[in-house]
Amino acid sequence: MSTEYYQQVIGRIYNEILPFHGKGKVADYIPALAEVNPMQFGIAVESLGGGTAMRGDAATCFSIQSISKVFTFAMVMSRVGEDIWKAVGREPSGNPFNSLVQLEHEKGIPRNPFINAGALVVTDRLMELYPRPKEAILDFVRSLCGNDDIYYDHQVAQSERDHADRNMALAHFIKSFGNIHNEVDALIDVYCHQCAISMNCVDLARSFLFLANRGVNPADGKRILTMSQAKRLGAIMATCGFYDESGDFAFRVGLPGKSGVGGGIVAYLPEKLSVAVWGPELNAYGNSLMGIEALERFTTDISSSIF
Ligand code: GLU
Repeated sequence: MSTEYYQQVIGRIYNEILPFHGKGKVADYIPALAEVNPMQFGIAVESLGGGTAMRGDAATCFSIQSISKVFTFAMVMSRVGEDIWKAVGREPSGNPFNSLVQLEHEKGIPRNPFINAGALVVTDRLMELYPRPKEAILDFVRSLCGNDDIYYDHQVAQSERDHADRNMALAHFIKSFGNIHNEVDALIDVYCHQCAISMNCVDLARSFLFLANRGVNPADGKRILTMSQAKRLGAIMATCGFYDESGDFAFRVGLPGKSGVGGGIVAYLPEKLSVAVWGPELNAYGNSLMGIEALERFTTDISSSIF
């Protein structure tokens, strides 16, 4: 399908989505996120054949938050391969993103890499693999989307650090089982920074194209993940990418994807395209309310999903 086609589709969706403003709530447990103007919505589509369709606030940067868990997991998986499954599971949790309850039963092995507990373990391993982890994460993301201006929003990172009691508790608890090796303070610092990466919908859609392209960055032909690793990462996104709303996202949208409490969602259709949406107002599960509405319309309009 052509870029013009996608431009028309998202233009229609944009108009249908605007009445949903005011139905969700901006995340406020990280104070810096509560300051974001809720009346914004953007959508961008990148197709593998080349070409960008964008509408609304698609060029406005926002905090990617948990979408960063896909980047860090890809970095670690590409280096340690199958051994990662000794540290983290691959089953949906059915619990909120920051839940502590399963960890005790599961002896500090988090259910999957996309709940906070699992992401903390992944970032802990990343810190062992890369001597300058914060620089390495930025370099990785910049190379994926071809934009060297991607940066950390230090105000958001500091705000999350100042209110990180729950993530600190998770990290200490996992460390007590021996599944976190670094000092918790240093780990939380890297984690809060990865969450505070600032990107827009166009950058985000571009940065997920390597997954639509079975592990190879289409911009430079560089293989990021093996075919099998790309398949596995997609499977975890499809089953665990939306916390305890993952089943409903598969039901309504039908694409592998990942959300963040900054209101962003990125998803992709294998061998075709990636799509990023951003609307800061969240639903009760911490996922962008307008984003899910828009993506449901998107896969319906283009008559394609992975199912
Ligand atoms: N930085 C957030 C946290 O750890 C990420 C949560 C999210 O985006 O779902 O609480």
